[in-house]
Amino acid sequence: MSRTVYVNEEYLPEEDAKISIFDRGFLFADGVYEVTSVLDGKLIDFDGHAKRLARSLNELDMQEPCTEEELLEIHRQLIARNDLNEGLIYLQVTRGAADRDFVYPSADTKPTLVLFTQAKQIAISAAADSGIKVISIPDERWGRRDIKTVQLLYPSMGKMMAKAAGADDAWMVEDGFVTEGTSNNAYIVTHDGTIVTRHLSTEILHGITRAAVLNMANEAQMKLEERPFTIKEAQHAAEAFITSASSFVMPIVSIDGAAVGTGAPGPIAKRLREIYLEESRKAAL
Ligand code: PMP
Repeated sequence: MSRTVYVNEEYLPEEDAKISIFDRGFLFADGVYEVTSVLDGKLIDFDGHAKRLARSLNELDMQEPCTEEELLEIHRQLIARNDLNEGLIYLQVTRGAADRDFVYPSADTKPTLVLFTQAKQIAISAAADSGIKVISIPDERWGRRDIKTVQLLYPSMGKMMAKAAGADDAWMVEDGFVTEGTSNNAYIVTHDGTIVTRHLSTEILHGITRAAVLNMANEAQMKLEERPFTIKEAQHAAEAFITSASSFVMPIVSIDGAAVGTGAPGPIAKRLREIYLEESRKAAL
């Protein structure tokens, strides 16, 4: 069934939606994005995604296409028009269309704003029940990973490397330490029950789910440490997991072929998934 999508102030059937071939998102990956999950027809962590979008735009001297209130209204319209109960909303802003030039076009160039829905079962997940396998790969992305740009070719290559190795995803490693997953933040749980995840910097994306999960873990009086860890430490940890807007909290059961903990999803990852789903459903907009 054809979806209703949003392109530059218009709601259109997906087959009628058009973007210029001169769009800088297409020519230079000069664009940023957000993915927000929808549960029970409501938005999870909308505020966090809107704030991070504003930050990404600001870091790239890109104009905001509209206000946060307008963005919320567009998300809600798309949920209503597509009768979306569970899934994702993808949003992309680019610097707009201009004659091809590495130099940014004038500041009055209108940014391109595109949003579309993807219906998907995300809360109940076979992968979350069984846990997933990851491999390690070198982190060969650019240095401003805190900006959520649409340059996703390397993460895409990483997922293909994982697939070729019979795994589900890849953790990226730089200078001996794990940075993050191809599209998620990475965590381990030590044998004394401490949740460990890399500290925020320009080296990783500041996950909205990461922020929410760390808050909830803190409130549940779980022990937390924000520091880098190695693949070896992760392979010998009690548990490992990832977080992202579309996977929530997803347990990892093997890293480069070595079983983590018992080789089954661990109790802390399972508990965090439950808490996150419960709390974020309550706070959904
Ligand atoms: N790191 C990377 C590289 C990502 O692409 C994502 C998902 N977009 C995340 C972390 C998780 O971020 P969030 O929890 O905001 O989805």
